[in-house]
Amino acid sequence: MNKVLLGSTGMAVSPLIFGSLPLGPLQADMPLEQAGRLLRHALDRGVNMIDTAELYETFGHIRAALKGYNGSCYLVSKTHATDPVTARQHVERALRELCVERLDIVHVHAARVADPFTERAAIIDLLLEMRHEGKIAHVGISTHYISAVRQAARHPEIAVVHPLINREGMGILDGSAQEMAEAIAEVATAGKGVYAMKALAGGNLIAQARQSLRFVRDLPGVHGVAVGMLSETEVDANIALFSDSPLDDGLWRGLEARRRRLKIMERFCVGCGACVEACTNHALSVFDGKARVDEDRCILCGYCAAVCPEFMIRVV
Ligand code: SF4
Ligand code: SF4
Repeated sequence: MNKVLLGSTGMAVSPLIFGSLPLGPLQADMPLEQAGRLLRHALDRGVNMIDTAELYETFGHIRAALKGYNGSCYLVSKTHATDPVTARQHVERALRELCVERLDIVHVHAARVADPFTERAAIIDLLLEMRHEGKIAHVGISTHYISAVRQAARHPEIAVVHPLINREGMGILDGSAQEMAEAIAEVATAGKGVYAMKALAGGNLIAQARQSLRFVRDLPGVHGVAVGMLSETEVDANIALFSDSPLDDGLWRGLEARRRRLKIMERFCVGCGACVEACTNHALSVFDGKARVDEDRCILCGYCAAVCPEFMIRVV
């Protein structure tokens, strides 16, 4: 795959970035060895950046892929900690479990924090301290807020921004896809590296996957897109798409026709009931503080996923 400079970081990254969340226990819960082989398949074909987070529980999967690997691979993690002591523990754990001495990027995992530069100032300071110690190469921010992307442009200490965007704007917390696209262009012009997340809106746009991925890939200022992948076929198809190679139409039709279901990540559901109100098919209820779906009523429209403040509903 061709490589793209990630803003001013000096990192030359593949435009297709392996998003590891779906491999872990929050989603597919793939055995470590199997996940390792899948990640390695992608690395051997030119993908050179893997995105993870303290929350994803995929350090072991990535470690399995990197065992004995001599090629280059950028590693990104995130900390959702709200205090510096815990944030340091998160970074140290990532270093230890990934068996590396330095992480290429660590993001403040502040998806639903409207003003991370105020609310997570202490975490940013801690990550900068760890950058000084040589344990982190670059500090970034991952966010679902347009306002946070815009603010990042004015913060020289932030090298990389990891924003949510998809062509429907699903999951963006303070505006439209168009407004997020404008903010992305602005922050990239300021020299930040930008790689996007949720191009398929957590699986909700899978039926139009090619169109949806190209939409995000081609936005001005987007250097890469993190995509969760669960099979070698999916990896190969995405590599072809991101390389502008001829696509196997039958294969893509198969990928876009995959049977889907609604998955609620109960562990992080706070029982707020917002999804229940959004479902016009009366397929959701809250029982014992957790949302439940009646699959016979669910039409996989994804409206509930868009309103979940915890982003804990996926169509998988
Ligand atoms: S996907 Fe649509 S039909 Fe299914 S539970 Fe969510 S809002 Fe209701
Ligand atoms: S909107 Fe999200 S957090 Fe709230 S009850 Fe539904 S799944 Fe749980």
